[in-house]
Order: sequence, then C-alpha cells, then structure tokens
Amino acid sequence: MHVSNTHPHDAQRNTRHDGFYDVAIIGAGVVGCATARRFALAGARVVLIEKGTDILSGASKANSAILHTGFDAPPDSLELELVRAGREEYLSIHKELGLSLVHTGALVCAWNAEEHESLHGIERQAHANGVQAVRPLSASQARTLVPALSNRLVAALEVEGEHVIDPWSAPLAYVTQAMALGATVLRATELLHGTFDGTWTLQTSTGTLRAGAVINCAGLYGDRVDRCLELPERFEICPRKGQFVVLDKAAFSHVPRIILPVPTAITKGIVICPTAFGNVLIGPTAEEQQDRTRASLQTSTLEALLHRGAELLPVLRNMPVSATYAGLRPATEQKAYRVYNAPGHRAITLGGIRSTGLSAALGWRRMLCAFTSSSARR
Ligand SMILES: Cc1cc2nc3c(=O)[nH]c(=O)nc-3n(C[C@H](O)[C@H](O)[C@H](O)COP(=O)(O)OP(=O)(O)OC[C@H]3O[C@@H](n4cnc5c(N)ncnc54)[C@H](O)[C@@H]3O)c2cc1C
Repeated sequence: MHVSNTHPHDAQRNTRHDGFYDVAIIGAGVVGCATARRFALAGARVVLIEKGTDILSGASKANSAILHTGFDAPPDSLELELVRAGREEYLSIHKELGLSLVHTGALVCAWNAEEHESLHGIERQAHANGVQAVRPLSASQARTLVPALSNRLVAALEVEGEHVIDPWSAPLAYVTQAMALGATVLRATELLHGTFDGTWTLQTSTGTLRAGAVINCAGLYGDRVDRCLELPERFEICPRKGQFVVLDKAAFSHVPRIILPVPTAITKGIVICPTAFGNVLIGPTAEEQQDRTRASLQTSTLEALLHRGAELLPVLRNMPVSATYAGLRPATEQKAYRVYNAPGHRAITLGGIRSTGLSAALGWRRMLCAFTSSSARR
C-alpha cells in the first residue's frame, strides 16, 4: 500500500493550500482515514498527518477484519452507535468504492453447559442492541451450517449480519476519496506539539501548520498526542496484543461462518474466521503489554492457537500455516471508547478505539458533521 504525500490534483488546486487547514487530523489509521473522508465530503480543507512512512502504521495494520453488527457491544454505548452507523455506511458505499464484502454470518459457539446458559443473555443483548437477525441453534443445526464443528459443540447462536472485509483496501479507499476531494496527506510527519489561540499552530517533524480544528486519531499514541496538544490528560493507552495464525486456502471451505466463542468482559476471545482473501485466521489472543510498537510472536502461543483451532474444528489439524502476525489494540483503563470533544479548543479526541475500530470508523458522521458546521470554514 502506498499513499503519496499531498493530493493528486495539487497543480490545479494549490490555491486551496496556503498552510491553513480547516481541520488537521493526527494519525492515518482506519479512524483517521475515515475521518479525513468525512470532513473532505463536508467540504473542509483537510490535512492528515501520519508519522509512519505510510498509512496504517499502527493498530489498523493487523486485525481480524470482521465488520461487526454490534450484537455484543455494550448496550447504549457510543461504541454500539458507531459500530452500527459505521457498518451501515460501509454497506452503502462498498460497491461504489469497489471494496470487498464477504457475507459469512457468525456462530457464537457454546462448548459447555455454562456457555450454553450465556447464549440466552447474548441473544437478549443482541435484540436490545437492535440486531434482530440472531437465532439459537442446536449443535446439530449448527453443524448443518459448519459440518466441520467438533461434536463437543453444545449449542450455538447464529448472528446473520456479520461480514468480513479487506482491512487494508477499505481505509486506503477512504483516504483516496478524501485526496480526490482535495485533502492533503503528509506521511513521515510526526505531530510534536500544538498550541491553540483561536486557531491551532501545529509543530511537526517536517514543519509548522495552522488549522482551525484538530482531530486526534493517533490510536496507540492517542494519550500522548492529547498531551502534545496540551489537552487534559484523560486516559492512558494500555496496548493489548493479539497474535494470529493464518491457515492455507485449503482451510477456507471448512469455515464458511465466523466461529466465535462466548465473549468475556475483557475480550471477544479466539475466533476462527474466513478472510476476504480465501484463508482462515485463528486468533487473536489478548495480552497486556507496555510496548506500543513491537507486536512480537511467541511460538508457544501460536501452537496453542493451532491446538485450539483443531479442538473446535478437528479438520483443521495439520492444515498448512501460510503466515503469522500480531496486532496491538489501543486499549485504555476502561472498556469504553475515549472520545472527547473540547469545543473551547476546537479539538476532538477519538481515542481508545480498541477492538471494533474497523467497523466503527465510518460511523462518526453525526458527531463530525456537527463539529464541521461549528469548526470548519471559519
Ligand atoms: C488483534 C486485533 C483484532 C481486531 N479485530 C477487529 C475486527 O475484527 N473488527 C474491527 O472492527 N476492529 C478490529 N480491531 C480493532 C481495530 O483494528 C482498531 O480499533 C483500529 O485499528 C484503531 O484504529 P485507529 O485509527 O484508532 O488507530 P491506529 O491504527 O493505531 O492509527 C493511529 C495512527 O496514528 C499515527 N500516529 C501516532 N502518533 C502520531 C503523531 N504524533 N503524529 C502523527 N501520527 C501519529 C500512528 O502511526 C498510526 O498510524 C482489532 C484490533 C486488533 C489489534
């Protein structure tokens, strides 16, 4: 993936870029790319600042690529609102932008009596979250959908609306659309410091910019960027690593649905998931760590993932492994997204988007539109 600095029509549109932007977005992860698109669509002069040499240098480069329905999101939460709105927007634009969408549906699988009991609560929660297309299945009904499921399965809950997508092309398309609308993208440019005196002056590693408003989409560095902008300290990023094994395409036909475990308060758990590229993922783990940059792999953990996969779908035993990888979730001390609007400073922090950001990224329409009318085009 490669995004060029600035926008494709620079020569014709130079007059729009006098060093002052309506909105500066810090961080070109999926959230920053979607936010750039949203403001560009609203007609704002946008600059997207990314410290990496290309977009998706942080959490967004390595995830499970599920477009969630929000069936198990915390009820009445901002996360639920954004996941639902983001999914809806993705479904409405994917054809126009040429983006992949694989309708798999998911099975939440119960492997013992206690988990079976939990399925009732998950079904109620899905309904309360506005996700009606869920239905309880007996083990044999579930096995008609996924014949490879182990005969240890006790019961399952089908969630019809879950999809998988390509997690890289989607944000690339968002930022490309923003650039076509005139947005400037500055790669290899780190925000160092910002001050606000009615407008923002932003010092970066490649020069100084001015902007009417700032949106912090810095993912794993969201807390530090708030500090650089002299905004109040309201959260701390606590990276949560997820390791994955990618199985060969031979596994794909055995996993026509996303196989989910009963989630816990901390994690959605180990998923067995088809990909938009015809492979199968097993993962992710949920491991707290201090390091915000390195997502290392442990052989013993990868072996345990393979073992778990083969326990649940015995046909996956000895399936060739194509790749392994790990990603870091921008988790914080709380489960909730850390989204703050500082209207006095014309700044929004979209922080702590830990584990559903690919689904939620397009969902900020309502909030950002309100902000656009008050901040952009001043
Ligand atoms: C293991 C795992 C599995 C997941 N599975 C799913 C899933 O199936 N479905 C789903 O919807 N979501 C999933 N997610 C969550 C999703 O990947 C994240 O919510 C999302 O990537 C967060 O994006 P972001 O843009 O907020 O952060 P990031 O992707 O971290 O982007 C922030 C960007 O800011 C840049 N930056 C930081 N500091 C500065 C600075 N000072 N100046 C300039 N740039 C800066 C960084 O380089 C980075 O590129 C998963 C995440 C993980 C890790």
